[in-house]
Amino acid sequence: MPGPAVGGATDVAGRPGDALVDTHGRVHRDLRISLTDRCSLRCTYCMPEQGNEWLAKTSILTLDEIVGIARIAAADGITTFRLTGGEPLLRTDIVDVVRRLAALTGPDGRPVDIAMTTNGIRLRELLPALVDAGLRRLNISIDTIRRDRFRELTRRDRLDDVLDGIAAAAASGLRPLKLNAVAMRDVNDDELIDLVDFAIAHGAQMRFIEQMPLDAGHTWDRSRMVTQDEILQTLSSRWSLEPVPGRGGAPAARWLLDGGPHTVGVIASVTAPFCGDCDRLRLTADGQLRNCLFSSTEYDLLPILRAAQAAPAQDEAIDRMLRSCVHGKLPGHAINDPSFLQPARGMNAIGG
Ligand code: SAM
Ligand code: SF4
Repeated sequence: MPGPAVGGATDVAGRPGDALVDTHGRVHRDLRISLTDRCSLRCTYCMPEQGNEWLAKTSILTLDEIVGIARIAAADGITTFRLTGGEPLLRTDIVDVVRRLAALTGPDGRPVDIAMTTNGIRLRELLPALVDAGLRRLNISIDTIRRDRFRELTRRDRLDDVLDGIAAAAASGLRPLKLNAVAMRDVNDDELIDLVDFAIAHGAQMRFIEQMPLDAGHTWDRSRMVTQDEILQTLSSRWSLEPVPGRGGAPAARWLLDGGPHTVGVIASVTAPFCGDCDRLRLTADGQLRNCLFSSTEYDLLPILRAAQAAPAQDEAIDRMLRSCVHGKLPGHAINDPSFLQPARGMNAIGG
């Protein structure tokens, strides 16, 4: 598998403080920050059981480095920072990461929004401190609520820890609370209705994700993927589904269940891509900026961060790299093109 192409800082228009607008007019407002590529689970669609090539510990961004990048991104109009991984709650400084990021403000002086995507393990013990630090929204991944299936799918017997985390999130009052499941044929596709019922019982919105070709083991098989149409067909055996208008840049299309108030979401990156409204950038745990989950080009911030450079010059160099990354964004991903090559990094190392 070839490594990523390296995108460099190019001479693009814009100065620090200008909005991050790409060549297709999309204004970027959302930065997903992967805090680590390590994880407490080994979901089959994300990571291999063994033989994963971990990022070098010395290349993992420090708290100060993350905040330094985020400060510049916030000044350029990024309003939402979503913390992900790997498993973000494995970072020992996770509460400090949230606290420092939550203190950032945008050009209008308003505080930024801090969200997290987690597998829920350790959430019960950490949630009070995270909320106190400024965490505002949570997405928790749960692909099955059956113990044997969970153990098989994640290769770890940790369902109770995840359920504990979801219960804590439900009680915390953080809303909207979203639960994510990758729909998989002959794995959990008989559980979609149960998962929606489970989410509703926890005051959460269930969202199903089409499986994407991003597993570190490179085992994705299009013919095994459960499509949005199939998901909706299954759900419509139980509820009437009415599309919710006004999706904006959100990855999930939503449907009202039996007229509402509950909804279900589907993230159909493969069969119904939403690239035209994409406002997201990604930062990997080792300091690579990416303009798309599926891109093979990365823009390396690490040398800039680790060069002995005075603050204004360093800030300008980070800003230029952000703009170059945005400038290089293609109109859409090419995963439906026969020539598509899966990125060398797995989802756990990109940040989902
Ligand atoms: N560990 C955290 C978690 O599982 O929520 C955060 C990182 S995980 C990579 C983020 C999201 O990506 C999860 O909802 C996971 O289900 C999803 N994901 C991982 N690999 C995927 C794949 N191949 N296709 C679709 N979604 C995937
Ligand atoms: Fe870990 Fe999340 Fe990947 Fe599962 S999906 S292996 S919980 S990073």
